[in-house]
Parts: sequence; structure tokens; C-alpha cells
Amino acid sequence: MREKYDVVIIGGSIAGVSAALTCINRGKSVGVITNSAETSSLYKAEKITNYPGIPAATGKEISEILSSQLLSSGADVISGRALSVMPIGKSFGVAVGSDFCNCSAVIIAAGITREKLYPGEGEYLGRGVSYCATCDGMLYRGKTVAVIGSGEEAAQDADFLESIGCSVLRMTKAARYEIRGGLKADTVVVGGEEHKVDGIFVIKDTVSVTKLVQGLAYSDGGIVTDRKMQTNVPGVFAAGDCTGKPYQLAKAAGEGNVAALSACEYIDNNK
Ligand SMILES: Cc1cc2nc3c(=O)[nH]c(=O)nc-3n(C[C@H](O)[C@H](O)[C@H](O)COP(=O)(O)OP(=O)(O)OC[C@H]3O[C@@H](n4cnc5c(N)ncnc54)[C@H](O)[C@@H]3O)c2cc1C
Repeated sequence: MREKYDVVIIGGSIAGVSAALTCINRGKSVGVITNSAETSSLYKAEKITNYPGIPAATGKEISEILSSQLLSSGADVISGRALSVMPIGKSFGVAVGSDFCNCSAVIIAAGITREKLYPGEGEYLGRGVSYCATCDGMLYRGKTVAVIGSGEEAAQDADFLESIGCSVLRMTKAARYEIRGGLKADTVVVGGEEHKVDGIFVIKDTVSVTKLVQGLAYSDGGIVTDRKMQTNVPGVFAAGDCTGKPYQLAKAAGEGNVAALSACEYIDNNK
């Protein structure tokens, strides 16, 4: 990962790859932060017959073509989960795990982003609730923490926390968790049972987009954009399923292209 890119794209499926290819064609440096292809909606599609130029293919097949196209495009592919986007003057700082990069514009292409948080998750984020064990684990050395999440990353984070001396409650069930506390979160409630902890790590594939970018406008199941795919935060654009229905490949690819052209224009106008 470089220190600085013209454009950082969050999500490396069809909307993100479409955006990356256009930004590269426009001469911009591009970093694409993405979870593995298996996490995308595209990968799960059994058979796609309505994407122009491809008579019929599985989502996995299209996904593999996109991944190799992205790898050879000149964009930097950064594996991992983007955790936050922070405005810093005219640019943005983007956190990926414990790493960090800067950019002039951001395109969110994160797929369907359900804004449903566990009760208490949003309220206590940064006050006992964390999305990143590598970033915040040391704060809980020798203490009891809960790791909520069933994926590989959650298991790895739980292992890491144990390795630095935390006592870890692994909460891997798909259940309704509730986070409670006073000034800081100190309890996870699941199935009517209360678990007292010092810290809580919530490890999901996606980060709620309104937590990813503070102040981002969201409504009716999607990030609010104008026709240029500009969000209400200047310099932040969005494309694909994350902007709402219809959830379709052709729409995602088209929006990725428009978002990229707008991001390039934004950068050129703000030099
Ligand atoms: C079962 C099924 C069948 C479908 N069939 C069709 C069909 O026949 N025709 C059709 O047109 N469409 C179909 N779709 C819809 C289509 O797959 C989606 O519209 C399309 O994949 C959306 O692309 P996207 O790039 O917006 O999001 P996605 O393909 O979902 O990709 C988003 C990527 O971003 C990653 N991401 C999210 N947050 C972060 C973060 N914070 N950091 C890093 N990475 C992140 C995700 O993990 C994911 O890998 C189907 C979908 C499903 C689930």
C-alpha cells in the first residue's frame, strides 16, 4: 500500500472494478481496498444471463475475471476491510486494519450495506466497542474481551487477542447481541445471558457506511447520491448496490464508471 493515492475505492467487485479501470484510464493512481471476492453478492449469483457481452456465467466466473482484470490494471489491490474514512483538510485518511493511506477522493463500492447495527454498537463505538483488534487490542491486554463474528477474520482476531494476553469470549453464533454499559461498554447480552467484559470487538465483513464516513447521508436502503454519484460529503462518491436498488450488475458497473469520472473531475478541479 502506498502512502497516497489520487483515488481510494472501497470494494473490489463489479462497481469497484468498473470505477478503478476508469480512474486508471484517466491517469489517476488508485488503491482498491477490498475483502475477498467470496464476500461479494456477485460471487453468490448462481447464473447471470442479463449482463451485456457475457451470454451466461456464474457469479464466481465473472468475479474471477474481474479480480484478474483489476490485478493487471495498474491499481493497487489492498486486501482487507476499510474501517474509516476521515477528512484531513482537502484529502482523506483511510484506515485499513492497522494501516493507513491518504487520498484525494474516495469511491464507496461496498455492496449492500445494511445499516442494522447491534443495539448499543453505534453508541459505544470508540468507547469499549472496536472494529479492529490490531488497532485497539493492546488497550485490553490482560483483560476480558468479547469477539462477535463468525468469519475467518473474527477467528484470527480472537487468536491475536489471546496471544497478547486477553481472555477472549468468542461469540460466533448468528444471534441478536446487545451491547450495554455506562460511560463505556461493559456487557454483552445474548440469549438473555449477560457477559461482563472490558472490551468488545465486532468483526463483520462490512462496516456500516455511516460509521465508515461520518455524516454520510443514507436513506431508503442506500447512500444518497446525485446523478454524478457524488454523496453529500465533497470528494466522496458511491456506486453499485450500496446506493440502493435495483441490485443489478449492469447498474453497478455503470455507476462505478460515473463515480470514477466524477472523482477524476473533482480531483482536477481541486488541484
Ligand atoms: C444470489 C444472487 C443472484 C444475483 N443474480 C443477479 C443476476 O442474475 N443479474 C444481475 O444483474 N444481478 C444479480 N445479482 C446482484 C448482483 O450480484 C449485484 O448487483 C452486484 O454484485 C453488485 O455489485 P457491487 O460491486 O455493488 O457489490 P458486491 O458485488 O456485493 O461487492 C462489494 C464488495 O465490497 C466489499 N466490501 C464491503 N465493505 C467493505 C469494506 N469496508 N472494506 C473492504 N471491502 C468491503 C464486500 O465484502 C464485497 O466484496 C445477484 C445477487 C445475488 C446475491
